[in-house]
Amino acid sequence: MNDMERTGRARTAIVIGGGVAGPAAALALLKAGIEATVFEAYRPGTGSRGGPLTLASNGLSALRVVGADRALAGEGIPTPRMTIHSGSGKVLGTIESAPDLPATTTLPRGRMAELLQAHAAAAGVPVVYGKRFVDAVDTGRSVIAQFDDHTTAEADLLIGCDGIRSTVRGLIDPASPKPHYTGLIGLGGWSETPLGVSDTGGAFHMVFGRKAFFGHVSDGERTGWFANLPFKTFTREQLQGTSFEEWIALMRTLFADDRSAAARILDHVTPDAFIPASPLEDLPHVPVWSKGRIALIGDAAHATSPSSGQGASLAAESAVELARCLRDLPVPQAFQAYERARRERVERVIATAARTNQSKAAGPVAARFRDALMPFFMARFTTPEKTAWQYGHTIDWDEPVPV
Ligand SMILES: Cc1cc2nc3c(=O)[nH]c(=O)nc-3n(C[C@H](O)[C@H](O)[C@H](O)COP(=O)(O)OP(=O)(O)OC[C@H]3O[C@@H](n4cnc5c(N)ncnc54)[C@H](O)[C@@H]3O)c2cc1C
Repeated sequence: MNDMERTGRARTAIVIGGGVAGPAAALALLKAGIEATVFEAYRPGTGSRGGPLTLASNGLSALRVVGADRALAGEGIPTPRMTIHSGSGKVLGTIESAPDLPATTTLPRGRMAELLQAHAAAAGVPVVYGKRFVDAVDTGRSVIAQFDDHTTAEADLLIGCDGIRSTVRGLIDPASPKPHYTGLIGLGGWSETPLGVSDTGGAFHMVFGRKAFFGHVSDGERTGWFANLPFKTFTREQLQGTSFEEWIALMRTLFADDRSAAARILDHVTPDAFIPASPLEDLPHVPVWSKGRIALIGDAAHATSPSSGQGASLAAESAVELARCLRDLPVPQAFQAYERARRERVERVIATAARTNQSKAAGPVAARFRDALMPFFMARFTTPEKTAWQYGHTIDWDEPVPV
């Protein structure tokens, strides 16, 4: 009989995926006394650098539990304020980080994963690259992961942190939902040059343009930007077959009538710092988060569309919460307690972002209503008190998890 069979407590874990949830989970599991190994499909340095990702106060609070908050905040552009504008240049509202919370920071998506992987490795977590997970077998005494290079790994648990197209999710529930398309495609980039714009002074400017949505942030040296374009239908071939020049030309047309930094930035963007178009997707409700010795966290379980600016933060929170539950409870109860603690919150964030997506894809009439009503709603509903449920969320690591 092994340790886990005797006590019900896990001692070892296989973590599939080295994005945000994976390294954060491995660090938190280590803190909970569980030795975890991260298996990532890609080799270091081969992934995309990614466009700007805002890591919100609540994400930084979760990463503080595993000591990774400073490394990430130190590399990002501090972004304590989001300023929302109409296409005519009118300020529709602002969302400020509460002064008592860690200030939101913005960094390239790929860099965030790299930093977390490095942090996990430095803490003694083995991070194994070039390992694409394909299947798992629950032997009743352990779980055995199989990779596409015909190698295997064995542990007490397997945690699926393999993103929105999770293989692990399909394994624990073959009927699990597929990603849902939001009606928007996203493009963007991150440049180590100003891209023709000046320091935004800690603000991430977001513009509900007449035809599409544009955001940018800059500290005067580095600039991150993104565009969300309403696309009712498209084919993958169409997205992949459109050249850099064609995307830039399309965006120039769509943003031509707006008062924003779009035109200036598009004049300076180069192909090497450009993230090509991809559909923006979410997973509003994944019914099964765990089965036997396997559980899901991050986008694999609760992908929110980028409009929330919360996907990475929620992934970090779930990583810490799952580890805390596994620290205090035997495995089936720990997975149940983790889901109880997380499901309502993450689904609320996903639903809130879905409403924002509708505003981004508004037609001309709806857009006029949006621009007229938004100042009223933002003044009432985006105050630090009203957004505290989202940004002020913290996990008390020392608090025992109730049975
Ligand atoms: C355009 C865009 C903009 C975004 N902006 C923001 C933002 O501003 N703020 C924010 O908080 N979030 C943002 N997000 C969402 C955020 O990136 C995700 O929510 C977050 O990365 C989820 O982390 P994760 O670890 O669950 O998944 P991922 O970061 O997707 O990581 C999954 C990892 O698993 C690996 N993997 C996949 N399959 C396998 C396999 N079979 N075997 C082994 N490894 C595998 C992948 O290579 C990847 O490294 C954005 C997303 C997009 C697409």
